[in-house]
Amino acid sequence: MNGRVTNLNLPCFTDDFIIGINKNKTHCLTGEFHLSLFELEFLNYLNLRNNDFKSIHSSLDRKNLSLDNNTYGSEKNRKIFWVAWSSICLRKEYGGLGVRQLREFNCSLLGKWCWRMLVVREGFWYRVLVAHYGEEAGRLEDGGRSGSCWWKDLVKIRDGLGDVGGGWFAERVSKRVGDGSSTFYWYDRWLGDVPLRTQFSRLFDLANNKLCTVADMCALGWEVSGEAWSWRRRLWAWEEEMVVECSHFFSNVVLQTGVPDRWQWDPDIGGGYTVSGAYHILTAQSDPPDVWLNDLVWHKQVPLKVSIFAWRLLRDRLPTKLNLVRRGLLNVEAASCIAGCGHDESTTHLFLHCDTFGLLWQSIRSWLSVEGVEPYDIIDHFYQFIHYTGSSKKRTSFLQLIWILSVWVVWNERNIQTTIDQLLEKVKFHSFWWLKAHNFVYGSQRWWSDPFLCLGID
Ligand SMILES: [Zn+2]
Repeated sequence: MNGRVTNLNLPCFTDDFIIGINKNKTHCLTGEFHLSLFELEFLNYLNLRNNDFKSIHSSLDRKNLSLDNNTYGSEKNRKIFWVAWSSICLRKEYGGLGVRQLREFNCSLLGKWCWRMLVVREGFWYRVLVAHYGEEAGRLEDGGRSGSCWWKDLVKIRDGLGDVGGGWFAERVSKRVGDGSSTFYWYDRWLGDVPLRTQFSRLFDLANNKLCTVADMCALGWEVSGEAWSWRRRLWAWEEEMVVECSHFFSNVVLQTGVPDRWQWDPDIGGGYTVSGAYHILTAQSDPPDVWLNDLVWHKQVPLKVSIFAWRLLRDRLPTKLNLVRRGLLNVEAASCIAGCGHDESTTHLFLHCDTFGLLWQSIRSWLSVEGVEPYDIIDHFYQFIHYTGSSKKRTSFLQLIWILSVWVVWNERNIQTTIDQLLEKVKFHSFWWLKAHNFVYGSQRWWSDPFLCLGID
């Protein structure tokens, strides 16, 4: 979904964000916005009310998100935190739902401004900023206390002081020197991993000409005895050694006359800064967990809300009776399985081992003529069900759909007096419609008797 916003109150809390206490760090932004259908549908699924960006924030504050699926007991108004917000926000390949992380997304947007401040200096907006805040060594001044919230957040990102990702911006932006005329020798990162004023901070303190460009320094002579070195006082012997070390850096530098210096975004030297690229960097995890598990719940023919349900199920985050007891929302006595089998309604019981609901797997296996054991653990069950020996990709994909659908049907039908045959009918019916929606050519009769044939799977 794309659109044009004329007035979007976008919360911005790159630093010490406190809701409703003393800061209202929201900024009005205008511009393009892009929400994927997934995000839109997911937000819809969460039943967020208008203006609920803020409640997402407060959820962030509590580090949890309440999913609206509380169907038990008298405490309907009490919020239950079934899934940690941080898990929901993890990118899909890391096992999360990939819901956009507002804090990181906000930083990527602000980073775009930092990038523009470097590369688009002829614009009117830049001149306004220069007039307002002043400029030194090609950098806008931070404005001290008079800066707006937006400006302060932006400066923090530019200077690597924000609490998201630290110096993620400054560390990845560098100057590619051509003729050296617009690169500030001490301030810009043009040689090595940090600016020279950081690497040789002692010399920087002592230098008379802190605002020299690379071209100036080269013209004056930056070899050890060159005129480029002008100090506030005589150097000590060890400081002289630093100059030698520093000038070694330039022994291979050759300036190219007529070639302008330019900024580059190190992660994408040709393309430059993009919001999505920066967001990717800010949300990258060093160690993606359960990648295969995560892949299993997403299926292009399974409705999103059903996949999300499966995602919660595999993490034991459904409001089963036992989970409600664990959270103090249901009395222990009320935890028994609705089928009257005498066991507590835990996730594994309800979906696998119940004398009633557990029988659905047998029915499904006989419908599909697929044999197999029923592992005790729910994740093992899912995995073994779909990875039938020697199974093709198409077959795996189909069994994946059936498994997700079956647990979905059990969950929704468990409180109604439904027989196993009726549950199986529902699985047949829904799978038919989910697949029919994607150019399925056979009629339901055929589907009822031999789904593999209909799908052209051996
Ligand atoms: Zn039971």
